[in-house]
Amino acid sequence: MSAATDVAPAKVNLCLFLGPARAADGRHELVSVMQAVTLADALTLTPAGAGAADSIACPGVNGDNLALAAVRAFRARTGWAGPPVHLEVVKRIPVAAGMAGGSADAGAALRLVAAQAGIADDGLLREIAATLGADVPAQVRPGRVLATGAGEHVEMLAPPPPYGVLVVPSSERLATPDVFREADRLGLPREPAALAAALAEVRAHAADLPDALIVNELEPAARSLCPSIDATLARVRDAGADHALVAGSGPTVIGLFAEPAQAERAARELPSGAVAARPWGTA
Ligand code: ATP
Repeated sequence: MSAATDVAPAKVNLCLFLGPARAADGRHELVSVMQAVTLADALTLTPAGAGAADSIACPGVNGDNLALAAVRAFRARTGWAGPPVHLEVVKRIPVAAGMAGGSADAGAALRLVAAQAGIADDGLLREIAATLGADVPAQVRPGRVLATGAGEHVEMLAPPPPYGVLVVPSSERLATPDVFREADRLGLPREPAALAAALAEVRAHAADLPDALIVNELEPAARSLCPSIDATLARVRDAGADHALVAGSGPTVIGLFAEPAQAERAARELPSGAVAARPWGTA
């Protein structure tokens, strides 16, 4: 086994339509077009000494790490008994910020160990990913995806034309389950029929969403728990974004610009911490 590296791109939800919690597992149904972007963590896998346990170093993240959980879940599901591995993560995606950084790292870890094991089966990796979290299957292959169910049903879409994404992290953090709970308290989830109607609309326009479909229905819940989001949304609009919206469950705010250069200029002009990105895989 030799060392290998991979990147773990963050995602932005270009739309997120929210349905009710499922009776089976309590996860909320949703319809979302997720776009991987060039803001990314980097993972390196190296062989660990014989007899060592699988391990991870991930400065900036304390406690159990989803990327290490991914390695363990891969071994358990496939029976792969290759040598122990050590993962090193360079964290650039803001943590607990609604950009699925943990899920992205888990997706990259699955790709890295699958390559070591000689297994090339995205369907299998997505099944393993679904046991780790609702956002993880969409991260098995970075790109543009339509996610349904609670996020575990993933359809790859064609890459979009280039555009600019401005990412404005917050100094606050939001735990995703808290945001879904707040959405329930506010009565935000759609009835199943209304979610199905949203899916039909999104499916018809997924390659290039019209303005009316660029909506995050979790946004009012994130703003309710983290009122400072409102000022950031206003700042991003003032910077000329065509759309300003909360990233996933927040509290990061993203701006969408027709041209990458516009997002780069806005990132320079906004207070520190704002970064410009582009859709993953576009020029
Ligand atoms: P999502 O959008 O997937 O719901 P998020 O983007 O809001 O999640 P993450 O950065 O993925 O949030 O982290 C959520 C929690 O997961 C954090 O509390 C963090 O401690 C934990 N975590 C575990 N592994 C990782 C990892 N590799 N990177 C970031 N966070 C991780």
